[in-house]
Amino acid sequence: MQSDIVDEYLRIVSTVKSYVEDQVEMGFSEAPASKQSGANGESDSASSALYESMGDIRNAVESCQLCPLCETRSNVVFGDGSEDAKLVFVGEAPGSDEDRQGKPFVGRSGQKLTQIIEAMGLSRSDVYITNVLKCRPPGNRNPMPDEIRACEPYLIAQLQLIEPRVICALGTFAAQTLLRSDRRISRLRGQFHVYQGIKLMPTYHPAYILRNPKFKRDVWNDVQMIMVEYNRED
Ligand code: URA
Repeated sequence: MQSDIVDEYLRIVSTVKSYVEDQVEMGFSEAPASKQSGANGESDSASSALYESMGDIRNAVESCQLCPLCETRSNVVFGDGSEDAKLVFVGEAPGSDEDRQGKPFVGRSGQKLTQIIEAMGLSRSDVYITNVLKCRPPGNRNPMPDEIRACEPYLIAQLQLIEPRVICALGTFAAQTLLRSDRRISRLRGQFHVYQGIKLMPTYHPAYILRNPKFKRDVWNDVQMIMVEYNRED
């Protein structure tokens, strides 16, 4: 009896071990978090499967009332750039300038991001820029887990439609949300991860390098790796 239990335990350990080895071989570097839903199993987030075009997603975001940020926003900040982009930048959430203009990354961090894009030999219209949250958290506070959960399906749908070759996750929230990870950005950056079969490079948020210029070099290294992937011949 005792040895049956031990055998069963060893069998389970071996099954889990080969599953993890298969996932690593297929390029997964993080375990996906379990899906969350409301207490009665109902979803408190948008569904990414409902949309056929970027216009459909934009319409849904513009009328979205899935979290309290809809009450304080001036404008939704949907995204900007080319829908055929090979490279998508994902930030955290709109700030006050973005909320006023309805466009992502137009304030000080936006100027820094534009400089980075231009240093890559590209322009903002060559890439697509969006955020995890489409509405501004009041006072620029950090996004809350419920807000991320409600809003993330819009981002997933945008990425599914664009199908970029590379995603650059700007800062902790974007990187941790997309990679279902709680590792620090300093540990995640500097190497490609795989998100839904797409290469994803986390790097520091432009606002962070404005405050800590010594990390510019790290961002530049990350960006150069992105460019190698971007320019790779198929
Ligand atoms: N910071 C972000 O993460 N996104 C913006 O759009 C602006 C600032």
